[in-house]
Amino acid sequence: MSDAPLGSRPRIISIANQKGGVGKTTTTINLAAGLSEFGYKVLVIDIDPQGNASTGLGVSPESRTQTSYDLLLEQAMLMDLIRESSVAGIFVCPANADLASADIDLVTSEKRSFLLSDAVQEASFLAAGFDFVLIDCPPSLSLLTVNALVAAESVLIPLQSEFFALEGLSQLMLTIRDIRKSANPRLRIEGVLVTMTDSRNRLSQQVEADARANLGDMVFSTTIPRNVRVSEAPSYALPVLQYDPTSKGAEAYRRLSLEIISRRSNGQAA
Ligand code: ADP
Ligand code: MG
Repeated sequence: MSDAPLGSRPRIISIANQKGGVGKTTTTINLAAGLSEFGYKVLVIDIDPQGNASTGLGVSPESRTQTSYDLLLEQAMLMDLIRESSVAGIFVCPANADLASADIDLVTSEKRSFLLSDAVQEASFLAAGFDFVLIDCPPSLSLLTVNALVAAESVLIPLQSEFFALEGLSQLMLTIRDIRKSANPRLRIEGVLVTMTDSRNRLSQQVEADARANLGDMVFSTTIPRNVRVSEAPSYALPVLQYDPTSKGAEAYRRLSLEIISRRSNGQAA
């Protein structure tokens, strides 16, 4: 589609799980920070109307005059929406509550599932030389999440280590399968990330063990511990890697980043 030189295409990873509060946004922000520490140029596209990834990366709500709503519904160019974040090397296409009506507003659009995909393949965006694009999805399997899965090369699924965590996964896996059949045959699972683990809690250990038994090496070796520094960081508009670089949470997200850098297409199927 573009004349961009070979090798300039970013790796596009959607962070998705229709359950809220499982660590999607936290993972998006801190994976972006981990990848940028290793020298990669990262774009975070926020498509959750709550806009938490935008806020957590220092793009204040008042300053969000143009957002991913304009990208999806007003034919704005991605390059015109990209903003600097609170961290060098990380850029943000922000979101706000306007997106809440996107599902309804998009119904009449023929290309409604491909809008984000088209945006990240557009020549001026490719020319900007991003290494990674992370898409922070809303807690639903709505058209917004579908757009993210159609645009992505892979999907990273945070799984909160609590009872019933695995139950919700089958619906997401079915959606991924549908999207492979229709719009994006190459979509693969980047990995399932067990989040908010507590090594002193037997239930938490059990959830991790079950996930590994059921999903095998689809599950990242890295798990993310429950760590208060992780939950404090967004109120300082910083990733935990900047807020408290030596915290357990920061170290875990650094390990995850390394796993993702080294773990290229090993082709697990859903
Ligand atoms: P989602 O985007 O899936 O809705 P969030 O990333 O917003 O989930 O996380 C939900 C809540 O849990 C937030 O308040 C966040 O700060 C907190 N949280 C996420 N990961 C951790 C962690 N590893 N340790 C402590 N709190 C966490
Ligand atoms: Mg979120």
